[in-house]
Amino acid sequence: MKRRKFLKKSSLSTAGIISAPILTSCKTDSKAEVPITPTTITKPIVIATWNVPNSTAEAWKVLEKNGSALDAVEAGVKMEEADVNNQSVGKGGRPDRDGNVTLDACIMDQNGNCGAVVYMQNVTHAVSVARKVMEDTPHVMLAGKSAEKFAYEKGFPKENLLTEKSKAEWLEWKKESKYAPVINIENHDTIGMLAIDEKGDISGACTTSGMAYKMAGRIGDSPIIGSGLFVDNEIGGATATGQGEEIVKTVGSFLVVELMRQGRSPQEACEEAVNRIIKNDPNFKDIQVGYIAVNKNGETGGYCIHPGFSYRIFSEKGHENNISASYLKV
Ligand code: ASP
Repeated sequence: MKRRKFLKKSSLSTAGIISAPILTSCKTDSKAEVPITPTTITKPIVIATWNVPNSTAEAWKVLEKNGSALDAVEAGVKMEEADVNNQSVGKGGRPDRDGNVTLDACIMDQNGNCGAVVYMQNVTHAVSVARKVMEDTPHVMLAGKSAEKFAYEKGFPKENLLTEKSKAEWLEWKKESKYAPVINIENHDTIGMLAIDEKGDISGACTTSGMAYKMAGRIGDSPIIGSGLFVDNEIGGATATGQGEEIVKTVGSFLVVELMRQGRSPQEACEEAVNRIIKNDPNFKDIQVGYIAVNKNGETGGYCIHPGFSYRIFSEKGHENNISASYLKV
């Protein structure tokens, strides 16, 4: 994955007078509710936030053997969780401001089942623990030490997630920052993945180490069903990356799916969800948010506030695309 080096340091309450944005192609007119009529899915598809060829290829390996979308998204995002070079997900993730790497993840299947872990330390594959929460408990979310204990009970190994590289960067940040949180405009590498399998079933997963140098205990959108991820097997799925606070405030991924239910294309739905954020936040120029979506027909879309966000689609062997998402023109 291409690393985005630039980290903008700023307080969460950055003030500023922002001129009115011009949307590139965002629809704001209301449309009659026109449910999607699925055409026959001729082939599976996987779509993921960011240029993550290893992850989409891994998911594809599952789909091409007629595996389930659920298995595909889990296998796909695990690649990023294990990759220490991805400093926004899993092992090697940037720590919170106290130096602890804490992971958030969720997963959702074609039947509306879901599982999540938040603020979990010392276990690399947060998405798989989230799946265990979904499948082996009557709950949808476990947090912190209890999530970690549950993971060990399920056989996950204890690991140190803080790499020397992330530790050295954190120590540098501590010297300069006076504990101001970092708002990332470009460095958002949360992995959200959606897949449709041979049967036409849709599942999704989302995993992150969250905002770099966040306050201890802070949870973003990524593990929150409806915010960082939402799947409705009749309609489609959506997932997000970027500043979680803004995504949570607008229940972003649920919004994208509901807009698709009302007849918007995946692209139009992502645009409208970004539009909701910038309408509510006069400081939107300081933040990045990106959405991707797929509908039941396998049509895809992606949109973000600032240039730099891309997503990867794998829909046929030998046919992978990395697409630079269109963005708000301000
Ligand atoms: N969405 C993640 C969060 O707010 C961060 C990111 O995508 O970079 O925790």
